[in-house]
Amino acid sequence: MIIFQNVSKVYKINSHETVALDDATFHIKSKEFVTFVGKSGAGKSTIVKLLVGEDKPTKGKVVVGSYNVNKLTSKELPFLRRKIGVIFQDFRLLMNKTAYENVAFAMEAAGRSSKEIQEFVPQALDMVGLKHKMSNFPRELSGGEKQRVAIARAMINHPDVLIADEPTGNLDPVNTADIMKLLLRINELGTTVLLTTHNKDIVNGLNKRVISMEDGKIIRDEEEGKYILT
Ligand code: ADP
Repeated sequence: MIIFQNVSKVYKINSHETVALDDATFHIKSKEFVTFVGKSGAGKSTIVKLLVGEDKPTKGKVVVGSYNVNKLTSKELPFLRRKIGVIFQDFRLLMNKTAYENVAFAMEAAGRSSKEIQEFVPQALDMVGLKHKMSNFPRELSGGEKQRVAIARAMINHPDVLIADEPTGNLDPVNTADIMKLLLRINELGTTVLLTTHNKDIVNGLNKRVISMEDGKIIRDEEEGKYILT
């Protein structure tokens, strides 16, 4: 369960204020698939930053599962982060590590044993169709393959929520469709998926809940929503 209750985020740089999020309220149930849409600057990434505790709201309350993110101490933050997997438009893989090592690194950071790592990393790479490229470095993988490694890494510690922040922004239509299929399958297997995108075709093909944003405000929140250009 995720709750945003009257959340605002104002960034101040010198005397200039930007309202990145303006009184946003929404609830997301466990196992939902929700897409946030809106033009660049609408506030989508601000929502992601507040969810993972990278930033604190100026006003309002953010709750993820049993964590009140506003009140999280630095000791509790790693526990929240373990509940949330995140993938990004630019993949953010470690370039000097192979696909296997990128995924293994996330397990090591979570304190898992080498036996578990040896067992689960190949399984995770198999799930995203990349077992045969386990020893490749990111530079030896296509964009779509890199994103699949990032998905395996995000899912390796079984998070409750997967956040996909513009995951297909750097991909062609074929790879975009593959990544979307993978996100839908992950959701079917029981993970809450939050997607941000400004790709109209993706949203309209999904028939899932859509939260539309403009200038930091939520302007629509619809089950089986569409991306309506304004
Ligand atoms: P989106 O992800 O929808 O493109 P963002 O959430 O990144 O939008 O940004 C919303 C607004 O907040 C934009 O006007 C952006 O310039 C501003 N903003 C985001 N992060 C910061 C920051 N760290 N400092 C100042 N302004 C920011």
